[in-house]
Amino acid sequence: MGDHGGGFQAIQEYFQQKYCRFCSNPFRQEGIELLRQEPGVLVVRVTCNSCGHPLGVAIVGTNMRQERHKPKGLSEWTKRDKQRLADKPKITYDDVLYAHQFFQALGSDWAKHLPEGTVQA
Ligand SMILES: [Zn+2]
Repeated sequence: MGDHGGGFQAIQEYFQQKYCRFCSNPFRQEGIELLRQEPGVLVVRVTCNSCGHPLGVAIVGTNMRQERHKPKGLSEWTKRDKQRLADKPKITYDDVLYAHQFFQALGSDWAKHLPEGTVQA
C-alpha cells in the first residue's frame, strides 16, 4: 500500500463504505486510484473491482480543516443573505463527485477550467 497522505487515505476509506450501484458490492481499495495531486486537491478515479463499472472521477479538496481566507465584505452581508447561505447543504463527497464528473471529458488540463477557489470541501 503506498502512502499518499491522509487525504487520499480518507477518500479511500470513504468510498470503501459505499456500494456499487450496479452489483451492490462495496468499492475496494484497489479500485480507488489517485490520478493527480494538486495543492489542496486530489483527483481520484473510482472503479468497482467486482463488476468493473466505473463510478467516475472525483475531485476532492483536501484542506477541509484549514480556514480559508474569507471573502472580503462578508461581514457586510445582510442577515438575510447569511440565512440564505446557511440553508444550503454542505458539499459532500457525493456532490463533488457528481459535480465534477464532466471534468472527465475535459482532458488532462482540466485544472485550467477551474476558477480559483472553486474546489473546496
Ligand atoms: Zn460493481
